[in-house]
Amino acid sequence: MDSEQTPLEAAPAKRHSTRCVRIGPLVIGATAPVVVQSMTDTATADITATVAQVAELARAGSELVRITINDEAAAAAVPRIREQLLAQGVEVPLVGDFHFNGHKLLKRHPACAEAIAKMRINPGNVGKGRRRDPQFAEMVEIACRYELPVRIGVNWGSLDESVLTRLMDANAARREPHPPEAVMRNAVVTSAIESATQAEALGLPSDRIVLSCKMSGVQDLVAVYRDLARRCDYPLHLGLTEAGMGIPGITASSAALAILLQEGIGDTIRVSLTPDPGGSRAREVEVAQQVLQSLGLRDFTPRVTACPGCGRTSSDYFQHLAEQVRSFIDRRMPEWRVDYPGVEQLRIAVMGCVVNGPGESRHADIGISLPGAGEQPAAPVFIDGERAVTLKGEQLAAELEPIIESYVAQRFASSKSE
Ligand code: SF4
Repeated sequence: MDSEQTPLEAAPAKRHSTRCVRIGPLVIGATAPVVVQSMTDTATADITATVAQVAELARAGSELVRITINDEAAAAAVPRIREQLLAQGVEVPLVGDFHFNGHKLLKRHPACAEAIAKMRINPGNVGKGRRRDPQFAEMVEIACRYELPVRIGVNWGSLDESVLTRLMDANAARREPHPPEAVMRNAVVTSAIESATQAEALGLPSDRIVLSCKMSGVQDLVAVYRDLARRCDYPLHLGLTEAGMGIPGITASSAALAILLQEGIGDTIRVSLTPDPGGSRAREVEVAQQVLQSLGLRDFTPRVTACPGCGRTSSDYFQHLAEQVRSFIDRRMPEWRVDYPGVEQLRIAVMGCVVNGPGESRHADIGISLPGAGEQPAAPVFIDGERAVTLKGEQLAAELEPIIESYVAQRFASSKSE
């Protein structure tokens, strides 16, 4: 084939999962959009704080919110949390995160089982030694009784010791043993698959199972999920556990998730960021959305393309304009989202000079190209690729806003009346 004629694919691979898990109207797996989820860090027994945080996460766009249910007070609080959320119009499904005492809590608090929409069971933390299998079975039986989907969520920090020991022993007997880290990664995947098989044997339908194998290193996570996707077709929950704070945490999560999502691996994601002191928990939702939007998998908010600026930008005016456009969109989105469905697909370009400005602007719905150093003090605005108007002076942002507003009203009005 003529290499110059080879079509260049620019899309993620087909998703590996073939099954769908339904949680009310929400679908996880196969061709369904990748679902964004999050987790609270309040004490679940603190009903007021937990309701406020779940509502904050849901309003930021979290489509599932997980809460820890770790003791009697937490289990007793869950139905009231659900009620108070519904009273506020927050219908986001709650996922109960259970560990070694989950079977007891759910038996004593049936209203808790009725208030959650999904369970997370960590097979390495459900009970030690001889207690592990019966306690796991009790959890699965409760999930069956209440028709709850279950995420079997392995975490390498709390890996089922019996699986690890078995695989380490088998490896030690090999003539050429694999490195221990490779055996540990295999044990993480094996624990998830064997627990899912066990859950199905206990009666949990396969279309109520989601798997995850969380690791804290990017390369470990990628290796483990590639193997998991090869060995099963359950929907997968992706997340880099203990990603950390700030830029390193965001970057590591984004790098890991992007590699896997591009390969068609992952049906729901969580970004496990440590919030800055006093910072919003909802940041993890924003990052998850941005990862999906950057990969072209989902649209959550209009995209503002801005060049990084360079020696050709004569002042910081360009940064201010990009920032003003972004904040105008953020301000208008709550209303636009209701009035103009599809507005999140809007593309705006704010460019610093004529080198890439007109070209990039023509590829956007609305683009503005500022004058660089030594250029004419005029900023052409392109609408749908055509030069529409030229703005001048110090009030560019103020003059651009009505242009954007009018474009949104015209372009997305038809979807409003449908
Ligand atoms: S578009 Fe112009 S100002 Fe922006 S980075 Fe490129 S050359 Fe620099």
